Amino acid sequence: MEQCACVERELEKVLHRFVMYGHQSEERLDELLRSVCEIRGQLVAFGVQDADLSVLSQTMAQCCKNIKETVQMLASRHKDIHGSVSKVGKAIDRVRTGSSANFDAEISAVVAETVWDTPERQKYLSETIVEHLYRQGMLSVAEDLCQESGVVIDMSMKQPFLELNRILEALRMQDLRPALEWAVTNRQRLLDLNSSLEFKLHRLYFISLLSGGIGNQMEALQYARHFQPFASQHQRDIQILMGSLVYLRHGIENSPYRGLLETNQWAEICNIFTRDACALLGLSVESPLSVSFASGCMALPVLMNIKQVIEQRQCSGVWTHKDELPIEIDLGKKCWYHSVFACPILRQQTSESNPPMKLICGHVISRDALNKLTNAGKLKCPYCPMEQNPSHAKQIYF
Ligand SMILES: [Zn+2]
Repeated sequence: MEQCACVERELEKVLHRFVMYGHQSEERLDELLRSVCEIRGQLVAFGVQDADLSVLSQTMAQCCKNIKETVQMLASRHKDIHGSVSKVGKAIDRVRTGSSANFDAEISAVVAETVWDTPERQKYLSETIVEHLYRQGMLSVAEDLCQESGVVIDMSMKQPFLELNRILEALRMQDLRPALEWAVTNRQRLLDLNSSLEFKLHRLYFISLLSGGIGNQMEALQYARHFQPFASQHQRDIQILMGSLVYLRHGIENSPYRGLLETNQWAEICNIFTRDACALLGLSVESPLSVSFASGCMALPVLMNIKQVIEQRQCSGVWTHKDELPIEIDLGKKCWYHSVFACPILRQQTSESNPPMKLICGHVISRDALNKLTNAGKLKCPYCPMEQNPSHAKQIYF
């Protein structure tokens, strides 16, 4: 960790130098440009014939000298920056080869070489990266990748991301209007999802009026009518907002309602908007690429360990199917997904009271089916058919 911090420090130095270099070179170039323009102006004004030639040549020589010096100075500073960049490289090398060995250079043994070897698979990868870039709002990079990889993205797939980004960008600048417009347009669908996004946006708009002080009193009172459709569901919240109006003259920040002005509400509304808008548009909240990447980061150390054990014990036959992992890797609760599962035995959708259960062999059936199939403490999987202890089956979470 210390070594990583060291890399960060070196990186900051380089970035600082880059910025300084930019400012300096701009300043010096502006200065040169000014003096050259001045000389040209004088020449135009007085004419070459009338000018004192010795003075003129002196001025020109001085000007050339200045230009040369500036170029040399900029070149040598540029060289210095190169030095700092290579220092970052060395710092990274130290992390790789240091005693703690944070980087393992040889990871090919846990990756199947054939993973990306068909054009179709490469296309999937490019599409996933493009989708990720759209999600991040990096539109021009996504367009470039599309062009270079030959991936064609349908406009209908792109549109929701563009809109989400436009609204989120505004929210980050504390501009609620685009989000409010979107929420009002999609009011019914949001309510169907049990979302309180629209109310929370109106609430925040009201609070931003409150923070403007007594001058906004009339506007705040008028805006309060937007709460009317939410009166029954958010009664308590609305009472608090209306109560705060009493303190508007003295400033909400000095009142018992100062909690309303907490600044983390903006980050929170961005999260709520992303979550609810993604749910409404049928998109996952997180990009599939970042989820896969994060899972890979968690799984890699475990796989590297297994590889080592397999090599040491010389039992190379254990892990021959590279498209299947040799053991189950716990990725934490965050990676438990709540997809719909229909029991193949009872042909009904599983629920919290009858959750899907994973058998030792890897087949999944509902708990009711598991209980029905259990006979004298033993269970024969209806698919493979491995005989096993039903108490070893593991619940898959909803
Ligand atoms: Zn089975």
